[in-house]
Amino acid sequence: MRGFATAACVLMLLTAAMSAQQPRTSALPKLPPLSYTCAHHPDVLEDRPGTCPLCKLALVPVRLDSSWMCPVHTTVIETERGTCRLCRRQLVPVTVSLTWSCRGDNAEHLEPGLCSDGSPRIGQRALRPHGNHNPRHGGQFFMAPDSWHHIEGAYPTARSFRLYVYDDYGRPLPADKLKDVEARVVTKETFDPATRKTTELSAFPLRVARNRAYLEARVDTAALPAEMTAKVRFARDTDEHRFDFTFDALTKEPAAPTSVPQAAKVAPAAAPAATATAAPAASQSGAGVDMPATMAGIVNELQRKNTEVRDLITRGDFAAVWVPAFAAKDLAISLEPHLAHLQAGKRDVGEPALARVVRGAWLLDAAGDVGNRQQIEAAYSTFSAGVADVIAAFQ
Ligand SMILES: [Zn+2]
Ligand SMILES: [Zn+2]
Ligand SMILES: [Zn+2]
Repeated sequence: MRGFATAACVLMLLTAAMSAQQPRTSALPKLPPLSYTCAHHPDVLEDRPGTCPLCKLALVPVRLDSSWMCPVHTTVIETERGTCRLCRRQLVPVTVSLTWSCRGDNAEHLEPGLCSDGSPRIGQRALRPHGNHNPRHGGQFFMAPDSWHHIEGAYPTARSFRLYVYDDYGRPLPADKLKDVEARVVTKETFDPATRKTTELSAFPLRVARNRAYLEARVDTAALPAEMTAKVRFARDTDEHRFDFTFDALTKEPAAPTSVPQAAKVAPAAAPAATATAAPAASQSGAGVDMPATMAGIVNELQRKNTEVRDLITRGDFAAVWVPAFAAKDLAISLEPHLAHLQAGKRDVGEPALARVVRGAWLLDAAGDVGNRQQIEAAYSTFSAGVADVIAAFQ
């Protein structure tokens, strides 16, 4: 089982935890629990101390929380949903790290407390690397497998494709770095499973736009839904990554508010204190899942989640795949005690099948974050074969 979750998922889980109804019981909000991360690999997050699975460095503690940030004014970070106090744009969910420090002292602490002069430490919320996975232009947002770059694909008008490139904090790549990105967009290709060779039939080079804010290409696709693949090298002599997009509709740039909307003047919908409900990803089970009481009920629900995953993949909504995939994982885990009720032959099928569903869910999560259709389909075949065997064993 995977020991770390991508920041995207931690963010989603924190957000899911926040939206759960939680009574406010005490005046002092509880702190979110500590997570452990690698100084070199901030997307590695574990719920206990250990070493980085990538570079073996000792993990360091960090206190993560979910917050709301203005997509334009990144210094505006609020604890509750609402609009930016500077520009009235809707705030977007981000992951921040919480630290406390004293005036005139650079030391950062992971909990509140008193300074040497008796005054309370001052709390800070700082955006985490990978803490902002929100599209900024209404497009589809993915994280690159190099775990540093992020991209957003947009289809603003028929026959035009735009690729925005961001850094690990979701900041647009500066123009002098953007010009080093080598990319093309492919609208038609064939894949030969025997030779594993992809042949591109229609490909269009992506070039820096005149405003130097994104790369763009004219493409031959005009019909919707429009499927296209960006193949991107972020710098010369680095690996090429592929990102698969499906646009159901033309991409609409979120409009900047011109006046203070009425909604901004009333208090935002009551959100529970963010710090009170956050839980680490690894112990966050059953987020949004209603666990059926019977074995047959769990198996039915598992089948339903399998269909949801498949439909999302068919629609190309890769960023949402982790939701039913993780629900299926929790369902599979809750079936484990029921293995004891099966006949030996069925148990021999059921046990590895449950493990395959769990592993398939993690693979779907990882592949969904990076938006690679081939990886997602490979993960889905592991996952759905596991689900089919679970159904056969438990029915
Ligand atoms: Zn590392
Ligand atoms: Zn703003
Ligand atoms: Zn990221």
